[in-house]
Amino acid sequence: MDDWKTFDIANPSEEHAMIREMVRDFVREEVEPQALAHDRDEKFNLELFRQLGEYGLLGITIPEQYGGAGMDVTAAAIVNEELSYSDPGFCLAYLAHAQLTVNNLAVNGSDEQKARYLPGLCSGELIGCMAMSEPDYGTDALGMTTTATLNDDGNWSINGRKMWITNGVIDDEGTPADIVWLYARTGTDDRGRPEISTFIIEKGMEGYKSGQKIIDKLGMRASNTSELVFEDCIVPPENLVGELGNSIRHMMRNLELERISLAAQAVGISRRCLADMTRYAGEREAFGQPIREFGQMQRHIGESWAEYRAMRAYLYETCRVTSLASGGHRLDSDGVKLFATTAAKNIADRAIQVMGGYGYVGEYVVERLWRDAKLLEIGGGTLESHQKNITRDLAKNPEPIEE
Ligand SMILES: Cc1cc2nc3c(=O)[nH]c(=O)nc-3n(C[C@H](O)[C@H](O)[C@H](O)COP(=O)(O)OP(=O)(O)OC[C@H]3O[C@@H](n4cnc5c(N)ncnc54)[C@H](O)[C@@H]3O)c2cc1C
Repeated sequence: MDDWKTFDIANPSEEHAMIREMVRDFVREEVEPQALAHDRDEKFNLELFRQLGEYGLLGITIPEQYGGAGMDVTAAAIVNEELSYSDPGFCLAYLAHAQLTVNNLAVNGSDEQKARYLPGLCSGELIGCMAMSEPDYGTDALGMTTTATLNDDGNWSINGRKMWITNGVIDDEGTPADIVWLYARTGTDDRGRPEISTFIIEKGMEGYKSGQKIIDKLGMRASNTSELVFEDCIVPPENLVGELGNSIRHMMRNLELERISLAAQAVGISRRCLADMTRYAGEREAFGQPIREFGQMQRHIGESWAEYRAMRAYLYETCRVTSLASGGHRLDSDGVKLFATTAAKNIADRAIQVMGGYGYVGEYVVERLWRDAKLLEIGGGTLESHQKNITRDLAKNPEPIEE
């Protein structure tokens, strides 16, 4: 009965605490030393990425029979939080692979598809990406114009372009992702709504190639973002996922995991900024005393602490009630991302302010985290889309307000 008093929502089991400890060690030893240079050079660290496979992190939520760790949403959040403490850009590549591609396949793929792709994706031999956005359709994702049409020989022919795809290319030579989890339009229903289907595209399939690598991004520069091009791309029938035209539901369900994982990135960014600004405020002196003695500095630290604690509690509470296999948590996956991402950006901003000129240069880390934090307000759904979804969901069912 008293267990709830000792329950740690961010490390609800020994296994979760161990994962956190392991990733934290890995981050300190392997991720932190390379983060600054990879951001500056806009380079994805493919070698380090493959190492995540050796630690079982690329298949964190995947059943063990396919080479995964068989864990839950909380574990996925822990990995995202810990990686983002040091390198959110590298973490974004992780998220696109492990949560958007690999988890999606494990939840929605057939046994045959899972057996074919998951072991390679979990080990890091194959790099995956998820392609939903297009040059002309982002928030309005269901307007997508990439189409798949059935040929007489039973194969599918895919035409269209996808935009902003994390891991779309895996190096600077433009080598495309090994596996693309692709959403395409396969028809329109009686009420004029689009029918969306999912296809698994493999590198080497005729008509699939990478487009431009998007350079000069504000943040998340250690992950590759690119366009993908499908020109009469021939896809065999066995690469259609699930029922034809029935992907909207699983697309939305995976967005919940994506939003939770992006909120976890915000928590990692915030914790790092707090740690660095607090240490700095104790060491730096002005007018003969540590700057933490000044009330205005205390406001930066105090407000950041309160926001960090609030986002952490909301994140892990949302993880606790979210299952990988069923949707229905949009209200809080949107809610936590809405709150945590802007708070993380503000906390990073305050960290720069506390650190003055030093906070403004790369060596002191927080300027990079500030740039990276901005993406969290756009990717996986913009702030405005979360506001819209929350209002819609509460209008439909206001009960959660009184719970
Ligand atoms: C670095 C990076 C990585 C990404 N990775 C991926 C990926 O791996 N896979 C993928 O599929 N996509 C990816 N994206 C795309 C991302 O999901 C989209 O950028 C995002 O959904 C917004 O779409 P958009 O950029 O087309 O903006 P738009 O949808 O054009 O929005 C522009 C503005 O209009 C507002 N707006 C639009 N509709 C409404 C509305 N109904 N009400 C109020 N305001 C509205 C938006 O909130 C925004 O402020 C990535 C983007 C970036 C920048």
